[in-house]
Formats: sequence, C-alpha cells, structure tokens
Amino acid sequence: MTTPGGGGQSGRWFPDEMPLPAANAETAGWWEACLSHRLVVQRCRSCGATRHPPGPLCPDCRCLESEWATLPGTGTVYSYTVVRQAFLPSLADTVPYVVAAVEPDGAGGARFVSNVVECDPEEVCVGMPVEVVWEDMGPELAVPRFRPRGTAGDEGATA
Ligand SMILES: [Zn+2]
Repeated sequence: MTTPGGGGQSGRWFPDEMPLPAANAETAGWWEACLSHRLVVQRCRSCGATRHPPGPLCPDCRCLESEWATLPGTGTVYSYTVVRQAFLPSLADTVPYVVAAVEPDGAGGARFVSNVVECDPEEVCVGMPVEVVWEDMGPELAVPRFRPRGTAGDEGATA
C-alpha cells in the first residue's frame, strides 16, 4: 500500500470503551487529517523542522507559522513496550498489546506514540518496519495504529 498518508487500510483492534484522545487547538489539525486517514506531521513554515505532538511554535526557530506535511504512512519501531495488565476491565480481552514509539518515514525524526497491531507482541522489535493502519473509533475519530509491513492481506505490497 503506497497511498500517501496510509490510504484506506482500516480495522478494529481496541474496544469502544477505550478512553479517547481529546483534541485541542494545537492538535485539531492533526486529528482532522487522521479522520480522513491521512498521516501528517507538523512542519515549520520557516525552517522546515518537524515536531510532534503538535505545538504553537517551532522549538528550533520560534516561528509561529506551520503546515501539515503528508507522510507516506511507513516507518520503523523506535522503541516499544508490551502491556500485559488490563488497566481497564474492557481491555481484558485485548492484553497483551504493544505500545510503541514509531518513527514515521519523512517525519524528520519526529515520533508518534501508537500501537503495533496484527502481530504477536513477542515478534515486535526495535527497527521493525511498520505501516499505518486506521482504527475508526467513531464517526469523528480515527486513530493511527501500525502493523508490520508486508503482512498477510497487504496485497500489492513490495516491502
Ligand atoms: Zn522553525
């Protein structure tokens, strides 16, 4: 899947009862892109530096102007941990699951904290190539998760 922003690959991996992220003025644009299944990163209009989570000013040059750069949707696992305890009763059937810091390709070193899905948690490793998949948690929220690149059902993949 090479559609810019990750395309239309989607599924469900976490329960509806999962606490939902709250958007604010700084992150609204990022979540809006997610809703259309487009993975983006905030980029400074002045110096081009990227940052995540989104914020009002560039930490490199203090510029207040920024834009949303669309990413290819691929990346690598920078770090991860396996959650084995259900901190919410609704997650009892979901554990164990993987929380990972993913370094998206083209994001200039910015990292997203997300989940690696569609694989055995024991198979996740630092440096693992992944690609975005979208979890529609409701009509107004889509959350990017990542799966190993080139897994079954990924017709047309060349990775
Ligand atoms: Zn800047």
